[in-house]
Parts: sequence; structure tokens; C-alpha cells
Amino acid sequence: MSREGSLDAQRRRRLERFAAQFRVKPGSTVALAKDFDPSFKAGVKKKKEGVALLEEGVRLLAEYQARLAAQDTWGVLVVLQALDAAGKDGTIRHVMSGVNPQGVAVRSFKVPSAEELDHDYLWRYARRLPARGQIGIFNRSHYEEVLVVRVHPENLERQKLPRASKQGDVWKRRYREINDWERYLTDNGFRIVKLFLNISREEQRVRFLRRIDLPDHNWKFSEADVKERARWDDYQSAFSEALSHTSTKWAPWHVIPADRKWFARIGAAAVLVHTLMEIDPHFPPVTKRQRQALLEVKQSLEAQAPKGTAPDPFEQQHRDGKDGAADRSGEPVAGARGEEVDLSTAPSAP
Ligand code: AMP
Ligand code: MG
Repeated sequence: MSREGSLDAQRRRRLERFAAQFRVKPGSTVALAKDFDPSFKAGVKKKKEGVALLEEGVRLLAEYQARLAAQDTWGVLVVLQALDAAGKDGTIRHVMSGVNPQGVAVRSFKVPSAEELDHDYLWRYARRLPARGQIGIFNRSHYEEVLVVRVHPENLERQKLPRASKQGDVWKRRYREINDWERYLTDNGFRIVKLFLNISREEQRVRFLRRIDLPDHNWKFSEADVKERARWDDYQSAFSEALSHTSTKWAPWHVIPADRKWFARIGAAAVLVHTLMEIDPHFPPVTKRQRQALLEVKQSLEAQAPKGTAPDPFEQQHRDGKDGAADRSGEPVAGARGEEVDLSTAPSAP
């Protein structure tokens, strides 16, 4: 293996260990409050250290996203779930800050419309899936169908289901349907990255107060949020159940500690980068024949150079070393190989 290849393999193993700490083992039974600490820092001691790690993660994401788009074979769906004020929006903003906007689509799901209620419950999510080569982000997702709908059963009433579909254990059936749907997507080239941003009750209280205290943040606060907070325990058990039943081999859940915003961001970035590393997308190879055809076009373009101009200015600059050619060719730019900090070398829990 080349030196670079073995560096990549090393980085992948470290990132795998870092991301694995957040994964819900398929088949395990989760009790959120007992099993996951919202203030866990996975050995990253200071925010400053975390910020450097995030920068590295953002760079890696941009690199992989470019290859994912070029290969046009796999799509990635990021499912983001959390209680109010856990930082979904900020996580999306920071983690995706370096990627090409053309390659990413964020979809937010609110209370379903009349048209949406006229369809099966997965319909509106299926319509907003990412295409191959894309990273799609669900800001809330099909999981609301076993979370808010479960905590507030009047939502289920609005779904106009025939009587037989409301009999028996509706939630168990939905877990199975969701697992089947996600398996179908995975089998057909769409990887699913499921992130639950885990915030504590006390941290939510503080963030709500902040939204009230800062006039610029008032718009983010709604009285409905306080009503939902009153159902904290019901949400904790709905989440615990959902995590227990829908963390699968093909689409496992990750519980990201979210009491520190900066940590939630590196946790989310690490899991996403790790999935992209597993996919390992490549720029499409060029056949000998395609290369030959390109060289013929090159000759013809060079023949069109105005008098006194280099036939191929790009090639000339590249040869003279004046150009950031690596940047243009899609090769990683300086830093992207981890000269400064390396997300994958972040310490992991004992
Ligand atoms: P926000 O994300 O703060 O803009 O709020 C969106 C609201 O839509 C939340 O209160 C969710 O609980 C609600 N919501 C999202 N999906 C569903 C659904 N399938 N059924 C009912 N309410 C939903
Ligand atoms: Mg809200």
C-alpha cells in the first residue's frame, strides 16, 4: 500500500473509533437518560480544540462531497432529530459550511399539509429524498411519525387511516415499515446517517431563556416549545423506543451529545465523514480512448491560440508552479490531508 493509502486507512480507523462511541448497537435497548450523557466530550478537552477539529471535518466533507457528486452512484441521506433548541439548524449551518451548495439539499418537515395527509405517511418524505451524488438533510424526518405523532395521538387521528390500520401496535408496525424502507433505500445506493442531538432538560431551559432574553432570537421561540417541554418524559421514552427499534445494521442511530454546541457539530461531522469514507467515492476513471479524444481536442484548442500567447496557458503556469492547480483538479488542497489537525486523531473514550 502507498504511504498515502495507509494514512487514509489509519485515519479511517480512528474516525471509525470516534464515531462508534455514539452509535446505538442494533438490537440493544436504549434508555436515553441512563445510557447517553448529553455533556459527554469524548476526550476533546477544550472548545478551541473542538473548533480546529470541526474545520478539519468540514474540509474533509467538501473533498468527499465533490467525489460523491462526480461518481453519481451513491446518495446520502442525513436524518436529524432532536428536541427543541438542541441545535439542529446550527449543526446544519456549521457542518455543511464548506460543501458546494449544488450538492446538498436541506428539507424541513413541519405539521403535515392537507395534501400530505391524503397520502400514506412516508409519502412526503419519499418525495424529498436526495438524488444520487447528493447529500440530502432531513431537518426532522419520517421519525416524527413515531415521535410527535406518538406523544400527541390526535396527529394519528388526522392521518385518515382506515380502522384496521389503527389496530394493534401501530408503533411497532411503523418501526418495521421504517426499517424496511431504509433497507430498501440502502440496498439501492442511498446511505442513511441518523443523528439524534441529545440535549439535557436543563440545557434546553437555558437555551429557551436565551431566546427570550435576546430580542434578535425571539422569533425562534414559540409557546408551543414550552408546551412540548412539559411532555419531556414522554418524548424521552418515545425517543428511547424509536432508537431501540430502528437502529439497524444498515442504518444505525447515532446519539450525539448536544449540551455543547461545538461538540455536537464535531460529532455530527465525524459520523457523516466516516460514512462518506466508507462509501469511498471516486472521480470517474477516464478510458484510454476518452483520453485520446481529449488530447485531440486539446491540439485543436492550442492551434487557436492568438499570436504571442502560450498554446496552453494553464499547462504553462502549472509547469512553472504558479498555479493552485491541485485545487482545480479536485485534488485536496493543502491542509486537507491533515497537516494541521486531524479529526480522526481526536481522542476516543476509554
Ligand atoms: P420547527 O421544526 O420548530 O419549525 O417545528 C415544526 C413542527 O412541526 C414541530 O412542532 C413538529 O413537532 C411538527 N411536526 C413535524 N412533523 C410532524 C408530523 N409528521 N406530524 C405532526 N407534527 C409534525
Ligand atoms: Mg421549533
